[in-house]
Amino acid sequence: MSDPILSVEGVVKRFAGVTAVDGAGLSVGAGEIVGLIGPNGSGKSTMVNMVTGEMPADSGTFRFDGRDITALPAWRRARLGMARSFQMLRLFGSLSVEDNLLLARHISMKRSMWESVLGARPAREEEEAVRARARELLGWFDLAPFADRKVTALSIGQQRMVELARGVIADPRLFVLDEPAAGLSPPNVDRLIALIRRMRDEFGISILLVEHDMRVVRDLCDRVVVLDSGTKIAEGPPAAVTQDPVVVEAYIGR
Ligand code: ADP
Ligand code: MG
Repeated sequence: MSDPILSVEGVVKRFAGVTAVDGAGLSVGAGEIVGLIGPNGSGKSTMVNMVTGEMPADSGTFRFDGRDITALPAWRRARLGMARSFQMLRLFGSLSVEDNLLLARHISMKRSMWESVLGARPAREEEEAVRARARELLGWFDLAPFADRKVTALSIGQQRMVELARGVIADPRLFVLDEPAAGLSPPNVDRLIALIRRMRDEFGISILLVEHDMRVVRDLCDRVVVLDSGTKIAEGPPAAVTQDPVVVEAYIGR
């Protein structure tokens, strides 16, 4: 097998009185969809926050696309091709849907925010290409009719789609999704599953997915990693892992 796109080992994170992540590791192969599951409080969000660099680890090593990123801050990991979505959406609510995408693209490009804001304006052709890509993705995510609407005017389901489109426009190699199905109606969960699969199949994006909804996990994931009290207790194909007595016990024992 080729080298994993993401490989994390021996991660520890302590908060006052709690060891949230206690030596766990995980990897995501190129083009793989990996689920990170476990009971509430098992350390999933803490783990992904350390993967993306939002939170420093107490110890552990993080490798992305063949390089050691342990010491890199979140924005540098993003520039190397890591995107993420948040359980609580973080969109620019007062901007239009299209402007949210354009802004995400500009921030992800290899120039500083100051250059984008103050001058050194991108060439006209580049600007046109970014707009064309934004429109293409809006169509792809069924958002074309809402391109000019403010994000706050959209339903939660549509806002989740904007969040995904915003990640994809940065051309990530890895997309880290924290509970993308939270708050979605069953038909929207079906659409989400199809879109995440297409993100991998058509754009080759590898995915690390934290998810509570076991239907999403079973339908999408090639492999799952199960955390309990910050430790990895199981790993394997979703059908096998979700029937593993150790995993069932971890969920029920709380
Ligand atoms: P999960 O996402 O699996 O529900 P979390 O990673 O959010 O779990 O939390 C793991 C543990 O760490 C929990 O016991 C939680 O209370 C604790 N924890 C998480 N974030 C903080 C923090 N910022 N300060 C203190 N404790 C935290
Ligand atoms: Mg969480």
